[in-house]
Amino acid sequence: MILILLGPPGAGKGTQAERLVSRHGFRQISTGDMLRAEVASGSAIGREAKAIMDRGELVPDNVIVRMLDRRLAAEDGHDLILDGFPRTVPQAEALDRLLAERELELSGVIVMEVDEEALTERIVGRFSCASCGASYHDKFRPTRIDGVCDRCGGHEFVRRADDTRETVLARLAAYHAQTAPLLPYYRKMGKLYLVEGMAGIEAVTTAIEGILSGFARGGVHAKVMRAD
Ligand code: AMP
Repeated sequence: MILILLGPPGAGKGTQAERLVSRHGFRQISTGDMLRAEVASGSAIGREAKAIMDRGELVPDNVIVRMLDRRLAAEDGHDLILDGFPRTVPQAEALDRLLAERELELSGVIVMEVDEEALTERIVGRFSCASCGASYHDKFRPTRIDGVCDRCGGHEFVRRADDTRETVLARLAAYHAQTAPLLPYYRKMGKLYLVEGMAGIEAVTTAIEGILSGFARGGVHAKVMRAD
């Protein structure tokens, strides 16, 4: 099964992907995580991407598509969640090609609908465990014990360099200008499913699981929920 999670920055795509990975055995492909790893390693891609990411703009399509192509080859045969990809119509078209070459089919695109007023607050407070990557939020999802990761007991946490108020505005602008056109693109393909992203974390997971079980039952339930 190949699933895309779509939504503006801060919609909860990473959080939901993490939960679907641990509950349903998906592999998560996050182009943002891949780029941050490139930046951390100081590679040529990382050096090119860093300034763009710090401005909240999108990394060029050809760089992203090449990176994704390599990653798809490495994940051959697994159920995948694409988180943060595609982000432009040319990326979506490239994905169609890459999947067709591998005789794979996109199961669906889940759009997390959110109240944009709340996004900045969601983004600016978030942090994650430096050891295991578990995600938290100062206000909405603090660790159970202050300074200790719930999942692995780690004591070191990291915040993303682009999770600042100024960058969030640029990232939202990029979402509206370049990513929002993917909604009509996938609606036309009959692949679009909407979930209410402002519900609690568990409620959003339950809604997504409802859509997934529709796929497993041959699409009957999914058809009912489909946004067309
Ligand atoms: P994310 O972790 O998905 O919020 O991505 C962080 C940043 O990485 C974005 O603001 C972009 O600069 C860059 N990025 C991640 N995925 C893509 C993509 N599919 N296309 C272009 N840029 C991306």
